[in-house]
Amino acid sequence: MQLQCSDLGWKCDFVATGTTADEVKTAMFSHAAKAHKALLSKMTEEDKKRMAKKMDGFLAMSAAAAKPDKVVHFEIPADNVARAQQFYSSVFSWQISRAPMPGPEYYLITTTATDKKNMPVEAGSINGGMMKRMAKEGPVVVVNVNSLDAALKKVQQAGGKVVMPKMQVGDIGLYARVMDTEGNVIGVWQNVKK
Ligand SMILES: [Zn+2]
Repeated sequence: MQLQCSDLGWKCDFVATGTTADEVKTAMFSHAAKAHKALLSKMTEEDKKRMAKKMDGFLAMSAAAAKPDKVVHFEIPADNVARAQQFYSSVFSWQISRAPMPGPEYYLITTTATDKKNMPVEAGSINGGMMKRMAKEGPVVVVNVNSLDAALKKVQQAGGKVVMPKMQVGDIGLYARVMDTEGNVIGVWQNVKK
């Protein structure tokens, strides 16, 4: 479960997480005690009770609205991109082309047509990317989440670790890679709303 400071109306991107509502509330109050000292000191005990109630409301709402995060993209590493392009185009008829963005070389793998919002037209199909192999990783599936910061926290709480820290990708999103409890590398993506 999680609660964002901004849910409480405070201009702050802190995310409190926990496995129970009480844990989340405790995390939020201890954050507020440090980060929003001035605001908190002006609150009466009644105000604090009201705030706790508000938190309960948000937590109940978000628990009810919790939807599974979906796999939206895949990545295939290559030691020799030209050779891999040749392989995937001859075997699966995939189109692989250089992504028009600054930064490290990245190739888009097109397996399915997309609409104006870049969403696959055909249900159940996704596109992918190719880059130079960084470590010994195999293909990586990329999961879309609402909050990358919250997801990275949950990864660590659940026994995983962050293996590639959060990075900004152009003006379209935030991306990080994590390792699950089994040693697999999984990509985690958050769209940036324009
Ligand atoms: Zn805050």
